[in-house]
Amino acid sequence: METAEKKILNCATTDPNKILPMKYKWARKHYQSGVANNWTPDEVNMQKDVETWKSTSVLSDDERRLIMWNMGFFSTAESLTANNLVLTIYKHITNPECRQYLLRQAYEEAVHTDTFIYCCDTLGLDPDDVYTMYDRVPSIKHKDEFVVNMTKSLSDPNFSTNGTENIQRFVHDLVGFYVIMEGIFFYAGFVMMLSFLRQNKMVGVGEQFQFILRDESVHLAFGTDLINTIVEENPEIWTEQFKTTITENIKHGVELESAYAHDCLPTGILGLNADTIDEYLKYVADRRLERINLEKVYGAENPFPWMSEIIDLRKEKNFFETRVTEYKNAGSLKW
Ligand code: FE
Ligand code: MN
Repeated sequence: METAEKKILNCATTDPNKILPMKYKWARKHYQSGVANNWTPDEVNMQKDVETWKSTSVLSDDERRLIMWNMGFFSTAESLTANNLVLTIYKHITNPECRQYLLRQAYEEAVHTDTFIYCCDTLGLDPDDVYTMYDRVPSIKHKDEFVVNMTKSLSDPNFSTNGTENIQRFVHDLVGFYVIMEGIFFYAGFVMMLSFLRQNKMVGVGEQFQFILRDESVHLAFGTDLINTIVEENPEIWTEQFKTTITENIKHGVELESAYAHDCLPTGILGLNADTIDEYLKYVADRRLERINLEKVYGAENPFPWMSEIIDLRKEKNFFETRVTEYKNAGSLKW
């Protein structure tokens, strides 16, 4: 079969086991980026965090609650993402190079789930507290419910991607998972947790979130390439009405994430306040809209340019060697 005949959806002639010759080079590129970013939570030393967490004088009550809520949201959200990926998206995406990436992503979601097990273990957090927060904290519950509700078609066992309406439903759900869940609902949490890192508090947890952020930025890049390719191959789905529905969903996602940020940050801490995070979420949402060829709606500026620097910094294979080199350089400078 010629690669030109390969299509992402409804391609009965595609043998899911025949990955070469490859048509969708972006899927391969994202797979390689994932591998280049490889990490595991136990590589991160948590000793300083354990001391900080035990001490009664370093963290304020607001800071502690903020850490706990982000642990609560992310710990269950990572599982939700992993389950959706392997139980629903994988079934409908039969293209082998895309499936290769989905397998890599599923592994990374397992690493992220492991991160919160590791954080609970090292800091001695109560699992019953962390893993029930999605049910107890309304602004977390609303985010999870929104994603589960807007991605219903994918979990219907009788769902197929045949026909314009079904392809629209599928793309609608992909936007829910990749653009809203991974591309917006994680971002207030990322800003908060990375602000600890920037203030040199809870540096281990901060570093874990930094690695997760880099992985998620690749997941988002794959998800949006996937969405754009499906639209390119099925242009009839991209009606004005459908584009409006997608834009409205993204705007609703921003509102829910903003409500979460206001809940987490009733007062300004860590040099952050909820209004600045709002501005950031709007900036992020505009980028997501443009990435899937929709008009931006907010025109917001990026109040946290340091977030982009963190995303762009790749771990690469020689991460630890690089660190040693950096220490050596620092030493030789003093010398
Ligand atoms: Fe994840
Ligand atoms: Mn992810």
